[in-house]
Amino acid sequence: MPGAWFVRIKSATFHISARDIEKAPEWDRPEFAFIGRSNVGKSSMINMLSNKNGLAKVSATPGKTQLLNFFVMNETWSLVDLPGYGFAKVAKSEKINFNESVGDYLNSRENLRRVFTLIDSRLPPQRIDIDFINWLGETGVPFALVFTKADKQSAGKTQASVDTFLAAMPEHLKGVPPVIISSSKDRTGRVAILKLIEQGLD
Ligand code: GDP
Repeated sequence: MPGAWFVRIKSATFHISARDIEKAPEWDRPEFAFIGRSNVGKSSMINMLSNKNGLAKVSATPGKTQLLNFFVMNETWSLVDLPGYGFAKVAKSEKINFNESVGDYLNSRENLRRVFTLIDSRLPPQRIDIDFINWLGETGVPFALVFTKADKQSAGKTQASVDTFLAAMPEHLKGVPPVIISSSKDRTGRVAILKLIEQGLD
């Protein structure tokens, strides 16, 4: 089966935490970034994808979560754990106002292949998620939507939540990003995410 080898993560190592883009590793490894509101399940997902329980800290302390965390996977590509935007203020202009280093990274990182934006599948569309996706769409970076914690409710409820979210997205972005339903608890979505990553390696 083409690509079947890839879902086997043979190695996953932490490389560095960078305060800003200046401190990011100078390499040309393809990078795949993960972002979402705090508590969305990002750390659990990184641990699930890598098969390493302690790789990303689950519910890490707030200070640490402001850094760009770089991991090296299979010695070929990098998974980048970006700071969550849950505790950032949304400006009155309704422009999203998140960590500046995240904005710099997403705007300028040439080896960034795709951003996985995590959304809690149990919640109605959150303004901050929609604003972020709108902003991301303007950068032109490929992205995907990952609806997390699907094990916490029925498949029907999750699908309804996905549909409501997609309906709330800006018209020009509808149908653009791949959509993945995930659960770190039962490992749903793992293969779909790794396959998208594999496609981005070409
Ligand atoms: P982060 O702040 O986005 O990194 O979120 P964490 O990974 O720390 O998860 C926040 C909380 O949600 C923790 O209590 C996790 O155990 C829980 N959680 C994360 N993912 C899942 C999931 O897929 N299913 C369930 N049931 N709980 C999850």
